[in-house]
Amino acid sequence: MIVVLKDNPDQKQLENLVAWLKSMGLGIHMSEGQSSTIMGLIGDTSSVDMDLINALDIVETVKRVQEPYKNVNRKFHPEDTVVEIVPGVSIGGGNFQVIAGPCSVESEEQVCEVAEEVKKAGAGLYRGGAFKPRTSPYAFQGMRDEGIKLLLEAKEHSGLPIVTEVMDISHLPLFENVDVIQVGARNMQNFELLKELGHIDKPILLKRGLSSTLQELLMSAEYIMAGGNERIILCERGIRTFETATRNTLDLAAVPLLKTMTHLPIVVDPSHATGIAHLVKPMAIAATAAGADGLMIEVHNNPAAALCDGAQSLTPTAFADVMKCVDAVRPVAYKG
Ligand code: PEP
Ligand code: MN
Repeated sequence: MIVVLKDNPDQKQLENLVAWLKSMGLGIHMSEGQSSTIMGLIGDTSSVDMDLINALDIVETVKRVQEPYKNVNRKFHPEDTVVEIVPGVSIGGGNFQVIAGPCSVESEEQVCEVAEEVKKAGAGLYRGGAFKPRTSPYAFQGMRDEGIKLLLEAKEHSGLPIVTEVMDISHLPLFENVDVIQVGARNMQNFELLKELGHIDKPILLKRGLSSTLQELLMSAEYIMAGGNERIILCERGIRTFETATRNTLDLAAVPLLKTMTHLPIVVDPSHATGIAHLVKPMAIAATAAGADGLMIEVHNNPAAALCDGAQSLTPTAFADVMKCVDAVRPVAYKG
């Protein structure tokens, strides 16, 4: 349920309303926008008397929210959420960011070289996997804690904030100096992990599960936000369909649709969505045109020798070309 308040509501009446709602065991999410203040009620509102609330002097309207996601619902928070990653680097609400870097951290030389290259081309954040979720137990599993150390080194040299994936709650202490924690597609419904990330003071990049609906993605974001962490960035990375010509099927309609459902920023990962390097550029352009708040792109200094996802990785030169095209498209991107 949402309660839209009149302009400049009487503070005493507002306090009384809040106290009364809380006494019924409800959580309250206040959103102060430019045009109105909205109270989102979280919990079982079935016994709340809408007419009684509607009749209060300070109340403009009351509406039931049918969707099971509340905190992340745009009805609770009509304005775009801007996620600040570090001072000067934000995403959402008109702030566009490109996250780029190798699928996995492989060596000091590789991770530092690619960081310099993507920074030069205009990336705002640097990515690299230290803990890798691989389909085969025999495939390279990532450099793990050593990989995080190398990423932190690349961060120090390049000045770019870093994004890396967590796979297990017990590894979280290693992420202390990581700027954005990624939840990969395979962990989108690891609810214990999501709950833990709800108590962390760091932005979370939440990737859509391989076969998850948009509502399921938003319910996973809801888990994080219910714990108090409001800095969530959603990521469309392709879903599994009957088509096998591409690694996944990029669901681009998800971008403008999610924008109507939620206030959270949305980035698109054309690398995992296609699995094919030459498709990354057209899909990056299309995602930007569709109104994405950013992109996540895999870049490797020697894709042919990459230990993971070489076929979808761009060379630094190809990445710089994508950045130019994306910049050219941004002024005409769909804004809703
Ligand atoms: C990744 O971004 O490195 C990754 C493993 O992606 P996904 O979880 O989307 O498969
Ligand atoms: Mn990858």
